[in-house]
Amino acid sequence: MPETRSTCPYCGVGCGVIIESDGVQITGVRGDPDHPANGGRLCTKGSTLHLTAAPVHAQQSRLLQPLRRFDRASAPQPVSWDAALDDVAGRMAQIHANHGPDALGFYLSGQLLTEDYYVFNKLAKGLLGTNNLDTNSRLCMSSAVAGYKATLGADAPPACYEDIDLAGCMFIVGSNMAWAHPILFRRVEEAKARNPALKIIVADPRKTETAELADLYLPLLPGSDVMLFHSLLHIMLWEGWTDNAFIVQHTSGFAALKELVREATPEKASAICGLPTEDLYKAARWMALGGAHSADSAPRQPTLSLYCQGLNQSASGTANNAALINLHLATGQIGKPGAGPLSLTGQPNAMGGREVGGLSNLLSAHRDMANPLHREEVAQLWGVETIPSTPGKSAIEMFEAAADGQIKALWIACTNPAQSMPDQAMVRRALERAELVVVQEAFAATETTAYADCLLPATTWGEKLGTVTNSERRISRVRAAVTAPGLARHDWQIGVQLARRLEPLVRPRKPSLFGYDMSRAEAAAEAIWNEHRESTRGRDLDITGLSWQMLEEKGPQQWPVPSGAAQGTQRLYTDGRFVTDDGRARFDAQPWKPVAVQRDARHPFSLNTGRLRDQWHGMTRTGQLGRLFAHVSEPQLQVHPQDMQRLQLRDGDLVHVSNRYGAIVLPVQTGSGLQPAQLYLPMHWGGMYLSGRSSKGQRLAGVNALTTPEFCPRSKQPELKHVAVRLLKAEMP
Ligand code: SF4
Repeated sequence: MPETRSTCPYCGVGCGVIIESDGVQITGVRGDPDHPANGGRLCTKGSTLHLTAAPVHAQQSRLLQPLRRFDRASAPQPVSWDAALDDVAGRMAQIHANHGPDALGFYLSGQLLTEDYYVFNKLAKGLLGTNNLDTNSRLCMSSAVAGYKATLGADAPPACYEDIDLAGCMFIVGSNMAWAHPILFRRVEEAKARNPALKIIVADPRKTETAELADLYLPLLPGSDVMLFHSLLHIMLWEGWTDNAFIVQHTSGFAALKELVREATPEKASAICGLPTEDLYKAARWMALGGAHSADSAPRQPTLSLYCQGLNQSASGTANNAALINLHLATGQIGKPGAGPLSLTGQPNAMGGREVGGLSNLLSAHRDMANPLHREEVAQLWGVETIPSTPGKSAIEMFEAAADGQIKALWIACTNPAQSMPDQAMVRRALERAELVVVQEAFAATETTAYADCLLPATTWGEKLGTVTNSERRISRVRAAVTAPGLARHDWQIGVQLARRLEPLVRPRKPSLFGYDMSRAEAAAEAIWNEHRESTRGRDLDITGLSWQMLEEKGPQQWPVPSGAAQGTQRLYTDGRFVTDDGRARFDAQPWKPVAVQRDARHPFSLNTGRLRDQWHGMTRTGQLGRLFAHVSEPQLQVHPQDMQRLQLRDGDLVHVSNRYGAIVLPVQTGSGLQPAQLYLPMHWGGMYLSGRSSKGQRLAGVNALTTPEFCPRSKQPELKHVAVRLLKAEMP
């Protein structure tokens, strides 16, 4: 049986997998014992990859050939690749000529490989001259990006997975990693079992399986994170637990933050966060001293923070991230073994997308669109005259612009915005109003494919080749074990073939910017990656010392890997120098603000959304396998027992949940771990359970019929973790 080393396509832990195949079908999968992220382990999703891949090859759910719709009322018809690409390239060039480049928008995915991201970024920002390229990572990690940049000067998580084994205290905030990052959580459990003195603090409005492991559980109220972190710093200052030498030598801006947190007294924070003051004191001491009992009795132990969407998916997302990093800077808990902030990426390649600049405000190798020098550098690298200075539209802004008629063409790759974006009614208006919707997908039937004028079949896990980067900056190879079914092509191939058709139309008589030799897929993908590698020279994520051959010989490596380095870099900022002009980290002083859509008398419940252990995103893959429904079989709204009693609800009763964005009807379940007036609903299910319909007659999809498009003004990440809703028992006919 041939075996192929690759990477799990689900979460940002980035586990190595060994794929078994008979050359045609994927027949088995097991954890790669040599991969540093998982050491041979896989969770329920990863260990069943071959079972969800098998029906894919049975061709039941796959998009197998290009389809084109000649008008919106007719069914899509099979066409050749040439006919499909010629048609969409012609229509895009027409829109470009008639309305300008910013009438085009590209919406990508953290599921794409780094090479896919690189090609589309170059196509949009280099060839077409629009910065309207964003990704579903905007819904996932953009607050972490903005938080790192605001404080440390670069979007670079400083810590690594090994720090879990070395920490004296772990602060897990806004992350149910027991379900969302299971293999990493096993490492946390083992660290605790090995070292009972390890202190684990978990802050989350819900008492999750992760919180069950905590020595101190902080059930903070939704949206109170910044106040919690500011109050911890207030206490640290009062008690003398900050690291003043580190603050003086390696940071700037502390005076303003000190002044700001003066107001964040434990009493005030206790009222806003809903937490006892004694727990705030305990958390501040453990976090500052790494679990040590006092500043005098033992040396400061390292503290590691692990955090995810609870901080990111917030209208205060950047402030949440920055306020947590402030704590690490104020206590010197960064740049040493076992210490530092470590954001957990939700998707398998959210990090790789950021590396190539796959957000509307970024350019290659962590460059900023707003920086004229960075634009000039990238223009030179790509061989184009200029990179446009007009800011690109972020995910929400892009769909709002399409709904308003400003964006005429939407190109969507490997994601399902008609299910996964907030404010579904607005998203569907955008998809209906756009003159041209192209969807590049592996799967035939998603909520979004129903809106496509042109559907282009793409390869998926087990067929794709390229690279991804996990949460600890580790670049791993993704390898193909079998050939793609039907006429599916790699996402980067589709991008290159589109670009080559557009070049004579929008940039005539100039040499091609996409001159990769496409005769061998592996070599072409490597050439694209090499171009990305060159763009990183001298940047914080410099990988000019890395090659695919080195990945082959030495295995996955953590960036940076500068020229001449024998291996990757485990930890950042170990010398106390940060990626700012003066080398000092910056304290970011932002006041606490309440949630964007607050509860009121008409909408008295807080709705929280998130992942289940055994499902992935919109379930196009995990939804194919019965055994993955054994954990949770259907979408159920979790409600606190007191509210169940007050509303005379029993498990399984149908309820009507509504707010200004939409309404859904679904069964309830008595929720464990919730506080009164809080609701929880998994994000995975689409349009099956909903009462709303679009003007096209299609159902609005899942929990995002209710979520708000309000976003953080700095990261533009929407507040998917909180919205106010009304809850009524549904009347039976
Ligand atoms: Fe895949 Fe994440 Fe599970 Fe690892 S922890 S096997 S990367 S889903």
